[in-house]
Amino acid sequence: MPPSQQIATIAAREILTRLHDVMASRSNAQSKLDQVVQIISTALLSDVCSIYLLRDGVLELFATYGLKQEAVHVTRLSLGQGLVGTIARDMAILNLSEATSHPDFVHNPETGEEFFHSFAGVPIVRREQAVGVLAVQSAESRRFADIEVEALQTVAMVLAELIFSAGLIDENSLASSGSKDQGSLRYNGLKLVEGMGRGYAVFHQPRVTIEFTVAEDVEVERQRLNAAFARMREQIEHMAQEAEFFGNSNDHREVLATYRMFAYDEGWRRRIDEAIDSGLTAEAAIERVQQHNRMRMREIGDPILADRLHDLEDLSNRLLRLVSGQLGTAARLGLHDDAILIARNMGPAELLEYDRRRLKGIVLEEGSLTSHVTIVAKAIGIPVLGRVKEIHQGVREGDLLLVDSNQGAVFIRPTPEIEEAFATRFALSRKRRAEFAAMRDLPAITRDNHRIELMINAGLRDDVAALEATGADGIGLFRTEFEFLVSSTLPRRERQLRLYRDILEAAGDRPVIFRTVDIGNDKTLPYINNSDETVEENPALGWRAIRLALEKKALLKVQARALIEGAAGKTLYVMFPMIAEPWEYEQARAVFEKQNAWLAKHDKPRAKRIYYGSMLEVPSLAETLDILLPKLDFLSIGTNDLIQFFFAADRAYPKLAERYDWLSPALLRFLSRIIDQANAAGCKVGICGEMGGRTLTAMALIGLGLKRLSITPVAIGPIKAMIRSLDRDAFAPFIRELVASGASNIGDQLESWAKKHGVVIN
Ligand code: PEP
Ligand code: MG
Repeated sequence: MPPSQQIATIAAREILTRLHDVMASRSNAQSKLDQVVQIISTALLSDVCSIYLLRDGVLELFATYGLKQEAVHVTRLSLGQGLVGTIARDMAILNLSEATSHPDFVHNPETGEEFFHSFAGVPIVRREQAVGVLAVQSAESRRFADIEVEALQTVAMVLAELIFSAGLIDENSLASSGSKDQGSLRYNGLKLVEGMGRGYAVFHQPRVTIEFTVAEDVEVERQRLNAAFARMREQIEHMAQEAEFFGNSNDHREVLATYRMFAYDEGWRRRIDEAIDSGLTAEAAIERVQQHNRMRMREIGDPILADRLHDLEDLSNRLLRLVSGQLGTAARLGLHDDAILIARNMGPAELLEYDRRRLKGIVLEEGSLTSHVTIVAKAIGIPVLGRVKEIHQGVREGDLLLVDSNQGAVFIRPTPEIEEAFATRFALSRKRRAEFAAMRDLPAITRDNHRIELMINAGLRDDVAALEATGADGIGLFRTEFEFLVSSTLPRRERQLRLYRDILEAAGDRPVIFRTVDIGNDKTLPYINNSDETVEENPALGWRAIRLALEKKALLKVQARALIEGAAGKTLYVMFPMIAEPWEYEQARAVFEKQNAWLAKHDKPRAKRIYYGSMLEVPSLAETLDILLPKLDFLSIGTNDLIQFFFAADRAYPKLAERYDWLSPALLRFLSRIIDQANAAGCKVGICGEMGGRTLTAMALIGLGLKRLSITPVAIGPIKAMIRSLDRDAFAPFIRELVASGASNIGDQLESWAKKHGVVIN
């Protein structure tokens, strides 16, 4: 450590030790502050030291050593007014050899400050908000040394906590402080799951509250930091390995690479060490360095660096959680109020840990339409707005948020006018939902009498209730892996059996198509590992779904037994995911048939009849349909995966999210060939990807001859309304011709056709 740095460290440490004693003493808050300013002034050899605190949105001189005492509680400056107001408003440092030469200088005669030339001030920050200013002044005209300013910042950080715990500032005065990130804000994003929700902001990864800022024993703090760093590096290596094995989006992997870079960045580590040397606890030292980084980034104002800072912010929070032992996501703490969850991204299993009754919406900085967290949120009816990159800049824990995914917007701290407009739209959307609910018992028949089978996608026990609520014809896709995702160990056969039996019981006469586990890619399980050491570069194309199931046959056998027994005396529909070639289907089916034969031989209860189906998610399968179709009872097109392989565009990669064109001629031609071929072979064909849940795309598919859709429950109403207002035979030639012509604006043309012919499309 350079000698000047050492001096600053010693000065800061000495101040901190003395501050600690003062704050622990029994004197009242005012007398404590009076002592604090004196200690700082003496240690830094300045003539003046003053503390301004925010009260009712105004900075008030609370204590001074060196200015006139009459000014205490008299001098008041609004945010942005004078040097002190500027520091608080901009959360910036000022260090001036001649205070009067600064354009923002205002003279406060009651303070007697005209004798002092130099001025240095730093914001006192709590929860990323300026709650006051700590300033020193000297008669001599000199810039304070950087190390002195650093010492001042360290002290300001401790002061923030001490002032808060002494009750000199409170959260309410903070909330009404009117600083620049206050006020109503609107951010736009991508509608991932439609709907509206009102609730209070909860960070999925909660911020750590720092209880102690001044170290009792510097060595102990250093050891705590070392241990936390070691664990953090371990975690990041683990996350990187997981991402490689099971694959998350490319975006996620980029973030991990940045995490890794910071986790091994010696500069960052050294600065935290130095902050510990100055007498801070490990937590306070991490936060102190982070405050410094924030300030630097604000000065630089570069958007690329801002992204980096965000990564470092994440990592810094992770380190704080490790060092303080405040682990886990907000789900563990429980939701105490209606909540809007804010996250960079999250996995489907993490979402399922939250109390669904209180969760009213989710805002993600990343996210894409067909990622599994979106699918799960849709299944449980929670609106999700994605790709709101800047959300972390404008929102604080506990802020009131209105998510209007339909409009692609989230409102932060809304004004009464915004709240009112939101409430009106909310009521309207509820009314529309009520109208859809009223159609519950009406059949999904087109105006010209074509019956369309409308089924729902599900994956959790509670989802079956949606069958009743929507009046759907059955469950067209039951994602059995969801049960695996919410379990910390491999669900045993008995547990699986009970679940499948309960689902079938609740569904009554309506069919349920169970899909065997689709694990891998973004649906990772800690208890199932790839035995292969080779790293998967593209896990969506990797060891997942049927590939994994055919290798880990025990898993598939257990599931087969559980399904066949669970369906005792009933009809069982089962289908296999990610079939690329007919032999995979045959092998998977053989596993079921063998289990069925065994059960029959041993006179065990079993399904009355089993229908087998295949998903079509891999384009290669379309080329062998002539071989496969005769062996199938039904075919289900999984467009979420299919499209990503068809367009070579990662479904979870936000940058490409808008590139999935569900109404592109290439895709519609491809789907139309499959539908024609299956219909001609007399094999039932349906679509169970998200594209079936949008009115225009569903209309196109029906026009192309599709008769079964399995969609998210909330879409049943709007899709049924569309079907009931559509004349299919009048529409079919139109869509066929559009698709044949390769038009690039199919969406617009469909919309005009629908409007002209009175088809309800929204
Ligand atoms: C699909 O890929 O379209 C599908 C329905 O399966 P999942 O979304 O679960 O991958
Ligand atoms: Mg799929």
